Amino acid sequence: MSRPIPACWATCPVHTRAHGYIALIAQRKFKEALALVRRDNPLPGISGRVCHHPCEEACDRRRVDEPLSIAYLKRFIADYELKTNPKMPSHVERTREEQVAVVGSGPAGLAAAYHLITKGYGVTIFEALTVLGGMLITGIPSNRLPRNVIEYEVDRIKALGVKMRTNVTVGRDISFNDLFKEGYGAIFLAVGAYDSRKLGIPGEDEFEGFLDCLTFLQRVNLGNMSKPGEKVCIIGGGNAAIDSARTALRLGCETVTIVYRRSRREMPANPSEIEEAEAEGVKIHYLASPLRILGRNGHVVGMECIRNMLGEPDASGRRRPVPVEGTEFTVDADAIIPAISQRPDLSFLPEDHGFTITRWNTFDVDPQTLQTNKKGVFAGGDAVTGPATVIEAVAAGKKAAEMIDRYLRGLELTAGEEESRPLVKLTDEEIQAIEKKPRQRMPKLPLEKRVGNFNEVELGFSEEAAVAEAERCLRCWTLTRP
Ligand SMILES: Cc1cc2nc3c(=O)[nH]c(=O)nc-3n(C[C@H](O)[C@H](O)[C@H](O)COP(=O)(O)OP(=O)(O)OC[C@H]3O[C@@H](n4cnc5c(N)ncnc54)[C@H](O)[C@@H]3O)c2cc1C
Repeated sequence: MSRPIPACWATCPVHTRAHGYIALIAQRKFKEALALVRRDNPLPGISGRVCHHPCEEACDRRRVDEPLSIAYLKRFIADYELKTNPKMPSHVERTREEQVAVVGSGPAGLAAAYHLITKGYGVTIFEALTVLGGMLITGIPSNRLPRNVIEYEVDRIKALGVKMRTNVTVGRDISFNDLFKEGYGAIFLAVGAYDSRKLGIPGEDEFEGFLDCLTFLQRVNLGNMSKPGEKVCIIGGGNAAIDSARTALRLGCETVTIVYRRSRREMPANPSEIEEAEAEGVKIHYLASPLRILGRNGHVVGMECIRNMLGEPDASGRRRPVPVEGTEFTVDADAIIPAISQRPDLSFLPEDHGFTITRWNTFDVDPQTLQTNKKGVFAGGDAVTGPATVIEAVAAGKKAAEMIDRYLRGLELTAGEEESRPLVKLTDEEIQAIEKKPRQRMPKLPLEKRVGNFNEVELGFSEEAAVAEAERCLRCWTLTRP
């Protein structure tokens, strides 16, 4: 039987060697720890801030007291380099003739480009916008993800030799055939999910003051600080809804309300973000659904809602919201921002594109290889999964690079699949023998200093806190099991 592996490593979609970098942090070898992260993930400062960290859910220290603060440790080593010795890597030597075109500069595209260039290929990223980073820069606000962190990590990928062509929409400004004619041997489509889902209720899109969350966040993130209104109502329960709400507050809007159809327990946004939003003054109406948008003289004036109770679980496994008759109520609002989900916007594809598209408007790929129905064209990230997470997009980019490498070498794509290995698990006796030691707390910007600016709220671990946290690791991977 193969040797068990630590759960933090196994459950990371990118298979970052968390157990290894944590051990190095405990020895104060921060540089080596960061180099270990970068073997798998070129975006440590970004993912150390916004990752939903499945590694922490799986950490066995949870059975003693609290799981290791793995994401914040990753952030610490990334910040440590940025603060003490920011350094660009040198150009990677080109060892392969072939070039690869990566479409989209979000985390999936950046990760694919990074892994392809380190394998010796020529790589060009084509980005439709004038800025690089995808949703990292147009979606996630800087109070959670400072721009200098994104710029640094993108610049490092550039420094390796990846060419980045902004303001080019593939499919419109340059066709897929042209890319192949220009000598690209393979294409990776990492175009994200930018089409906001409709609410499907009366009044939608009818009145001024109604705008979708991606338009709102992109506008603010690219520098337009105008308020959407004074009384802002947001619909949804994911990260985009919480970010929209916290952004509206920072712009100085008088009231910010979220309407979410299920209870807090089912809310998909990161629990800590929900807590922060409520602490900052966002009011959340749980168990309520919008019925109609109300308008007067062409402008939004509010929204009629109905209260729900929770019924049986639906296909997502979460309990279905069931409207309770006679519980209608109105929320006053002069701006309404739906943030209920997105799907890929594939309007850049020509009519005769020939790709197989799913009913969710995503690229239909072979899940094992990420290849589309077109030879040499691969796809990944939100464009395949629908709206998901940064770390899953990074994982897709890493996998696509491996598959493209195999494709360009003429190897079978599915060969060499990793076998799944059992996870290390401590025995109850071992867990009971461990001394309790709570995790280090993340210092935060005081509430009164958060309004009117987009300064980062989570301030990062000090060196001492990071080392102390790393020392909490149970080093479960060192245990030998029969
Ligand atoms: C507000 C908000 C908050 C979020 N918060 C979190 C969070 O806290 N944690 C987390 O893990 N995830 C979060 N997410 C989700 C996360 O941002 C996405 O899952 C992730 O960015 C997807 O990466 P991607 O590379 O697939 O696509 P994207 O990041 O969307 O990048 C796609 C890129 O492709 C470009 N593009 C599209 N079409 C073309 C074309 N034809 N030619 C050239 N370029 C093109 C786009 O301009 C874009 O730059 C959040 C999302 C939003 C909207």
